[in-house]
Amino acid sequence: MTTEQAYFLTVALINLVFAFSGTRIQDPANKPKSIHFFIIAFSANFLSWFLYVFDINTALKIVSAVFASIFIWGMVVFSYRRCEYPLPWRLISSLFLLNCLALGYFTYLNEFYATLHVSGLFVPLAYGIMSYLFLNLKQQRSPSDIILAYAFACMALIVFARSLILDFSTDFFSATVISSQIIWPAFSVISGVFALLSFTEEAQLKLKQESNTDQLTGLSNRRCMNTTLNNEWARAIRYQRPLALIMLDVDFFKSYNDYYGHQAGDDCLKDIAQALRQTAQRAGDMTVRYGGEEFLLILPDTDNLSAKHLAEHICSSIAQLNIPHQHSPLKFITISAGIAVLNKQNYNSITELLKAADTALYAAKQNGRNQVRLTQH
Ligand code: GH3
Ligand code: MG
Ligand code: MG
Repeated sequence: MTTEQAYFLTVALINLVFAFSGTRIQDPANKPKSIHFFIIAFSANFLSWFLYVFDINTALKIVSAVFASIFIWGMVVFSYRRCEYPLPWRLISSLFLLNCLALGYFTYLNEFYATLHVSGLFVPLAYGIMSYLFLNLKQQRSPSDIILAYAFACMALIVFARSLILDFSTDFFSATVISSQIIWPAFSVISGVFALLSFTEEAQLKLKQESNTDQLTGLSNRRCMNTTLNNEWARAIRYQRPLALIMLDVDFFKSYNDYYGHQAGDDCLKDIAQALRQTAQRAGDMTVRYGGEEFLLILPDTDNLSAKHLAEHICSSIAQLNIPHQHSPLKFITISAGIAVLNKQNYNSITELLKAADTALYAAKQNGRNQVRLTQH
């Protein structure tokens, strides 16, 4: 085996490793199976390089060129699927076929410069599309997606520039061949590594979001609350800013559950959560499912008066949901609220502040429910 053949075999095997790695990926969101196209693309790229290990003739060169086109356009389809953007099947398959035909034809004629120009046209187009998809159309982009997008853009520019340079002078030919023997494998590795990392990062993000979210209502859970409350407490003390807590509890919810059933109770909690999400919308506000039918609003930079207005607004908007409740004196689902505000270090700890909000809530319950109470401290 010559050194050159050893080189082709090494590059081929690198692509094969990526194709195998793709089979180990589980799409975190069970999206349309984008990873299948990644596996197909890298398997095709493996074959494309592997054929050069043999004594290459024109027929094998054409087959290799077809596999190289499958790699490029397979990655385009992968990118569309990965970015969950509708794939223009007709356009992409036409471009793929044109690419194969043009490459095959000029390879058959042994027109080396023409094949380079075909690549100089189709490859930047494909990589341009991929770059655009990852940079502009993918939701929740991870750092790996951004690296991938820029890598695709670089590759598009490099291949296009190479084609232009060879147009001006063929003196650069040997330099561009050597550089492309480095750039192509390097680029396969970059796109393989970061495309796979993108899945891992997405799974990590999903896990993090799930561990901070209450499953029934989609609001933040207690774990998330603890982190936010600690941060907001520290910020409020440092900058001498007020920090308001509103503790909310659904009135007569046990009898609602007993009368209407647990499923109806769950639906009711979801409706209340949705109403809360719509009322406490200021950036930095957080709505937490504190317990079964208890909710907590964390409101940075909010004083007594604003907190009271907001709590009253919440109570009236919950009442206006008009969820019937036969066993409540008001005949509808209502909510009671207790407020405590950290202001000029009037509380010594988060526990004290929470307890004060709870005491105010208890007072609201004692006073007849469907109302707001504020602990003055
Ligand atoms: P009060 O006005 O004094 O708050 O009366 P209450 O009946 O609401 O008070 P209590 O705390 O005794 O009842 C809370 C009830 O909330 C108990 C439980 O049946 C119900 N609950 C708690 N979590 C859930 C949940 O996730 N789903 C459903 N459906 N019900 C829940
Ligand atoms: Mg309760
Ligand atoms: Mg209750």
